[in-house]
Order: sequence, then structure tokens, then C-alpha cells
Amino acid sequence: MRVIIREVLNVGGFFAGETVTLAVQSWPDGGPEQTLTIDDAALTNVIARHLLAPGMVLELVLSGDRVEHASLLAAPDYTSLQMALRPQPIEPTPVPRVLSFRCRTCNLWTSAVGDPPVCGLCGASAPRLS
Ligand SMILES: [Zn+2]
Repeated sequence: MRVIIREVLNVGGFFAGETVTLAVQSWPDGGPEQTLTIDDAALTNVIARHLLAPGMVLELVLSGDRVEHASLLAAPDYTSLQMALRPQPIEPTPVPRVLSFRCRTCNLWTSAVGDPPVCGLCGASAPRLS
């Protein structure tokens, strides 16, 4: 299940527990807003829950009503994507490689996946480096 964050309602601290509560909408279809609480431990590739921001797209794995895993897939701008994503080891390659790019189809910044690199959301090709 993919959702886009519309609003960050609450970032739980010491007393509220280590959670973040979001207003989200199904992505890319839209539909009614839902309120979702995600435990910090369920965030698979995000440095810290307070770095989640409106416009970001998450991939969710649910178990009943509970969010088991949440992965950040895309963000409205490069800076917020880079700040929120936990750095991954980068394997050396003989040629320059696209790590993230602004997908024209999704209108979002996303990590490039695969070789040749494509958008992690829709599979559109990443721009070529020349
Ligand atoms: Zn895309």
C-alpha cells in the first residue's frame, strides 16, 4: 500500500511514545484522508521520524490496522529526500551512476533503483548521464 503524507499531525516524544501520526491519502489514486500512526521502529529507511514531511510517499506493510513496515519512496524535493533517507552503502562502479532523480511522471524526487536505473515508484527511466 502506498500513501502520500498530507500532514504531520503529531511526532510522539518521551511521553507519547516513539511514534509519528500522519494524515495520509492513498497514492497515486487519492481518496479519503486517513490518520495513521507509525512506530519509529517500523521505519525501514528513514533516519528519524521527525524528518517525514507533507508530500512524501511511503510504502506501507500493514498487519491489520498496525503499520509493520514503512519505507520512504519519494519526496517533493531533493533536500528533504536526502535528509530523511538513511544513507546506503554505495558500491563503486566504473561509470557515473544516478542515485536519485526527479521523476517527470511522478513529479517527485525518488531513489533510482536497478540497472539501468528507473524510478522506484513508477518504473520510468532515470535521466541518462552523459
Ligand atoms: Zn516515477
